[in-house]
Amino acid sequence: MDSYHNHTTFSDGKAEVADMVRAAEYAGLGEVGISDHLTVHPEGKAFRWAMPAARLGEYCAEVRGAAAGIPVRLGIEADYFPDTVEQTRGLLSRHPFDFVIGSVHFADGFLFDESRQRWAELTPDECAAKWRLYWERVAGLARSRAFDVMGHLDLPKKFGFWMRGAGLGPALAALDALAEAGMALELNTSGWHQPCREPYPSLELLREACRRGIPVIVSADAHGPEDVVRGFADAAALARQAGYTQTARYEGRRRSLVRLG
Ligand SMILES: [Zn+2]
Ligand SMILES: [Zn+2]
Repeated sequence: MDSYHNHTTFSDGKAEVADMVRAAEYAGLGEVGISDHLTVHPEGKAFRWAMPAARLGEYCAEVRGAAAGIPVRLGIEADYFPDTVEQTRGLLSRHPFDFVIGSVHFADGFLFDESRQRWAELTPDECAAKWRLYWERVAGLARSRAFDVMGHLDLPKKFGFWMRGAGLGPALAALDALAEAGMALELNTSGWHQPCREPYPSLELLREACRRGIPVIVSADAHGPEDVVRGFADAAALARQAGYTQTARYEGRRRSLVRLG
């Protein structure tokens, strides 16, 4: 297997690029990807957990220069905002990325994965509205064609505020948009260690993704070397349960499929 969603000290990871690459090699993976945060916020806000755009060149050089016995793929986890997606696309086009993970962490000033308290303050109707907004943004992300892999689909469940009130329709529409865009999605194991106690996305959505022919990539969203393959065996079993037999990998933003390890 590969591990493509790994953060380093360029954003909010705890370890250097070399440490993450070494951990992946030690774990016996086929390929490793580095994907630090890039967030081009509509109001120009900077976040301590994201890499300043001015460091992109330095970041790419360091990942490209990482010495390893396995291929090291240059990736990034970029936020999607309707108002800044063209700016983001422009920044990404200036660097030789192998893959771009698109994530929706925010919409209209609401950070989906930051605080349990902010969710707890919502009424059931407001909670459903946040979910609908999230799915609209995922569909917009797909339609932008600026990204290769959908990051942690169904992230708003993180604190246990489930999407039930919003119904399955908006989620399925977002999956249709991802399929139409030819994107892959991650099976991100980090959710198992959050209050929601399941990976992103749920098995139900993963089955729907498989049915639509959306390729999958198992990832850990690791912020330290100890987590590079966290939950991978369980995730591979879940992917098989959803119907997958292959996983995707990327080079130069071109996808290939390999047997699910
Ligand atoms: Zn993320
Ligand atoms: Zn991440």
